[in-house]
Amino acid sequence: MRPEPIPGILDIEPYVPGKSKAPAGVKLHKLSSNETPLGASPRAIEAARAALTGLEVYPDGQASALKSAIAEVHGLRTENILCGNGSDELLGLLCQCYLAPGDEAIHSEHGFLVYNIQIKARGAVAVIAPETNATANVDAILQRVSHKTRLVFLANPNNPTGTYLPFDEIRRLHAALPNHTILVLDAAYAEYVRKNDYAAGLELVSETQNVVMTRTFSKIYGLAALRVGWMYGPEAIVSVLDRVRGPFNLNAAAIAAGAAAIKDRAFVEKAADHNAEWLAWTTGQLEALGLTVTPSVGNFILVHFPDAPGRRAADADAFLTERGFILRRVTGYGFPNALRMSIGSEEANRGAVDALTAFLDGGR
Ligand SMILES: *Cc1c(COP(=O)(O)O)cnc(C)c1O
Repeated sequence: MRPEPIPGILDIEPYVPGKSKAPAGVKLHKLSSNETPLGASPRAIEAARAALTGLEVYPDGQASALKSAIAEVHGLRTENILCGNGSDELLGLLCQCYLAPGDEAIHSEHGFLVYNIQIKARGAVAVIAPETNATANVDAILQRVSHKTRLVFLANPNNPTGTYLPFDEIRRLHAALPNHTILVLDAAYAEYVRKNDYAAGLELVSETQNVVMTRTFSKIYGLAALRVGWMYGPEAIVSVLDRVRGPFNLNAAAIAAGAAAIKDRAFVEKAADHNAEWLAWTTGQLEALGLTVTPSVGNFILVHFPDAPGRRAADADAFLTERGFILRRVTGYGFPNALRMSIGSEEANRGAVDALTAFLDGGR
C-alpha cells in the first residue's frame, strides 16, 4: 500500500517547458517559450526594483494597483478583473471551481496543454475537438457539447499553431453554448494580432454571463519570470475564483511591475511592430526554403519539416541546438514533425534562418 492521488492525476502527461540550454561556448538564442526579445519596459523593471524595499510586508492581497491599471487601460471595472500568478493559475482556478469529477470540458485538438492538465487534475473528462488546417473548428466543438460540459477552452490565437478564429466565429460558438457552460477565451497573444476581424473578447464578456477572457503579462510585456496574468469576467464568476485563490497569489514585485508595464503603451507598440516585421520576414524566408509554415498571427511560427531521413523535425532540432538556436518540439501537441519557433531579435531570426538553410543543404 502507498498513498494514491485522486483519480485523473496519473493520466496527466507532465508539462515539458521549452528547453533553455545551448552547448558550452555557443551563444544561446532561446526561441522555445514565446518570450519577447525586447525584454520588459524599463518602467516595469524600475517598479519591480522599488518593490524590493519592504520584502518583510505581505503584498496587497487585492493587487489593487494592478487591477486599477488594467481597468484604466482597457476601460473596464475592477470588479470584473481577477489577477493571477500567471494566467495559468486562473485557468487552473476555473477548473477547480467549475469542474467536478466526471464533468466534461472541451478543448481543441492542438490546444494549449495547460487546459488538458487542469481538466484531468479535477478528475474531469477532457473532450477533444478536432481542428481543420491546424485551426479550431466551431462546429466540431459544438458537436461535442453535452449536458456535462462545464467549460470550453479556446486559445485565440492558439499556441502552438498561431492560428485564430475571427470574432464572428467566436460569437457563433458562444450563441450555441448552453448557459451553464463557460466559454474561456485565452487571449495570451492578443496584443500581437493585426487582423480587422479579430477581437480578444472584451465585448462578449461584457454582454454575457458565461464568457471569461484571460490575458498574460508573460508575452508582449516581457514579465514571464514574475508570473502575472488576469481574467476579465462577469462578477459572479470573478467572485467565485476570488474565494478559492491564495490570499496573496501575486507577489509585490509582480503587482508593481505589471501596473507599470501595462501603462507603457509606447513600449507595447514597439514590441508589436518588431514582431509584425520579423514574423512576416521569418515566415517568408522559411517558405522560400521549401518548409511549410502554418500562418501565424502570434509571436511564433509552427514550422513543418519534410518526412525524409535526416530532415525531420527531430534532426533539425538537434542541428539547431548545436548552433545555439533552441526551438520547441511540439510532439505533445500532436505535431511530431514540426518545431515551434518564437520570433526573436533580428540576430536570432537571421541566425535561425541561416542555420535552417544549412540544415536543409545537408549540414554544410
Ligand atoms: C504563454 C501562454 C499563456 C500564459 O501563461 P502565463 O501563466 O500567464 O505565463 C497562456 N495561454 C497560452 C495559450 C499561452 O501560450
